[in-house]
Amino acid sequence: VSARVLDGRVVASRIWRELSGRVAALGEELPPRLAIVRFAGHGPAEVYAASLSRAARSIGVEPVEVIPPEGAGQKDVAARIEALNRDPLVCGIVVAQPIPEHLETGAVLAAIDPAKDVDGATPLNVGRLARGEAAFAPATALAVMAILRASDIPIAGRRAVVVGRSAVVGRPVASLLLGADATVMICHSRTRNLARETRRAEILVVAAGQPGLIRPEMVNRSAVVVDCGINTTPGGIVGDVDYAGLRPVVSAITPVPGGVGPVTTMMLLQQTVQSAERAADERRQAVERFSLPDGARSER
Ligand code: NAD
Repeated sequence: VSARVLDGRVVASRIWRELSGRVAALGEELPPRLAIVRFAGHGPAEVYAASLSRAARSIGVEPVEVIPPEGAGQKDVAARIEALNRDPLVCGIVVAQPIPEHLETGAVLAAIDPAKDVDGATPLNVGRLARGEAAFAPATALAVMAILRASDIPIAGRRAVVVGRSAVVGRPVASLLLGADATVMICHSRTRNLARETRRAEILVVAAGQPGLIRPEMVNRSAVVVDCGINTTPGGIVGDVDYAGLRPVVSAITPVPGGVGPVTTMMLLQQTVQSAERAADERRQAVERFSLPDGARSER
């Protein structure tokens, strides 16, 4: 027997159709905008921005790339983000990482209006997520959950092991799994016996950035394996798990490419559309308030 392959492209295309419909239903004269802030001279960020732009446009959201001049300081970058915060057409803002070393990542991300923070990067959204409250969350973490849910994988009460503790993937995915009532263990580069921990996983989420880190002897036969890794090797893009080795010995597995990646893009767009819907609602309510007859208004 071979594992069930959890196809991210199928999940992504279903979400794409839903989002396209929701943007059309907004019926706005001007399309909602997604601002992508990226720094020059970083190849992967450029590729990320281009593919996100293409996806945004395909659902009717207008991408706006903002590239601060090389060497731009903290204040300059924050001012550019604040201008996007004030722009009523911009309903989502993402800052492509890594952020150049002369800038402080936390301070740059904190400049984003939490209401437009569609990749869950601001301290407010990070805190809300950690508290188990409604929040915009990092798109990759949401993609993991979307794949599990779309595949009808039970989560509540299950033993979930997350390999990786980064702010963009490991930690938020652990929060979301905990919010879905899994029993969660987080492993990282200082974990003493990784295989001992991963073997106990019923759900294994890997985000370590190490090709081939998870080998067949490290997993349980009943495991559902979600591989977030994107590693460029001479042989092409691979994940963090030995896919060919694991596929025959686990119960379900996501491929790379074609697993978490395509769903991540859709999750970011889903939060962008949600933000656009909220903004449209607020505009409608404001118009209604101000179009009431004078007498009615003073009674409010
Ligand atoms: P990171 O380098 O910030 O964090 C890696 C984490 O893995 C760290 O917490 C580290 O402790 C842990 N780790 C590293 N080596 C380990 C080992 N040998 N044993 C146990 N733990 C180990 O990386 P990141 O930003 O979280 O990204 C992880 C992977 O996910 C990368 O391949 C990245 O390209 C990919 N990624 C994918 C998406 C997506 O959309 N699918 C988005 C972001 C990142």
